[in-house]
Amino acid sequence: MHEINSFVLTLVIPVYQEANQLYENIHIIRNILNRNGISHEFILVDDGSLDKTWEVVKTLSKEIDEIRAIRLSRNFGKEAALCAGLEIANGDACVIMDADLQHPPEVIPQMLDLWQSQGVDIVDGIKSSRGKESFFKKISARSFYSILKRFSGLDLNNASDFKLLDSKVVSAWKRMGERTTFFRGMSAWVGFKRASVPFVVAERQEGKSKWSFLRLLKLAIIAITSFSSAPLQLVTFIGFLFLISSVILGVQTLYMKFMNISFSGFTTVILLLLIIGSTLMISLGIIGTYIARIFDEVKQRPRYIVLDRIDKRQEQEKHYLKE
Ligand code: UDP
Ligand code: MG
Repeated sequence: MHEINSFVLTLVIPVYQEANQLYENIHIIRNILNRNGISHEFILVDDGSLDKTWEVVKTLSKEIDEIRAIRLSRNFGKEAALCAGLEIANGDACVIMDADLQHPPEVIPQMLDLWQSQGVDIVDGIKSSRGKESFFKKISARSFYSILKRFSGLDLNNASDFKLLDSKVVSAWKRMGERTTFFRGMSAWVGFKRASVPFVVAERQEGKSKWSFLRLLKLAIIAITSFSSAPLQLVTFIGFLFLISSVILGVQTLYMKFMNISFSGFTTVILLLLIIGSTLMISLGIIGTYIARIFDEVKQRPRYIVLDRIDKRQEQEKHYLKE
């Protein structure tokens, strides 16, 4: 049990091009938390927005003391923005949510209740309906999750990035050193006592989703290659299948040759060439994908670069030191 009477909840919110709705949304979230008597702190991460998001963040931080903010030097993607926020999160519990209210803040008290009264360390927000999505997106999400489950054993169907993490989960997460992250998978991988809360994905009020098909595909490849090496073994497996069939075919061909009943096998040769050629290339592609991931990791580049920070407590401390 986490029997803490006075705790601080840290909300980590990645923000990218949300100038039009950020101000209202933060106030909506804050009102709900205040109404429930939850002491909290916001960590807003501006993921290199090109619109007025950072100005809005600055305005907000003037009005609300409990805001810390980081501005990244360019758009590093939501995963990197989440990392930047989590790395400085130091509350007793931490909630990760989107800035567009698609993760309903009304669910937070419920999450906190599970954390406090039942000693759950991770509360996963599970999408009970996926909101308004195209048929294509639904199908591709479903096939991605089933492939990931088969390869890595992680069952993330309907999982979201809306989560509550206990401080010890956050410190466990901080020990995972990979450069390219897949937060949903990482938070499942660390284990701990977990529970889930269903929520309905609200419709986006403003603007549109920043996830293009290509970005999602990239994330899916990162997810699979980060949590499983099964595709590599698949290459070996296919190799064995080909070996077995080549023995059978070889015996048959030789038999026909010696019995003098072989016919001109031009079609067979062409077909075999095409099948083997494409299988080889796909296999090389799979190996290449892993090499690319290794290449990305060994470079040891930082996950993100910070351009600017707002941290009132530090500013106050500096002020004291000066005096
Ligand atoms: N986001 C981000 N960096 C990006 C893209 C998105 O920080 O490169 C943030 C965005 O501001 C929002 C959250 O990630 O708070 C989810 O983004 P979005 O609503 O576009 O995605 P969807 O709801 O379609 O999954
Ligand atoms: Mg959204």
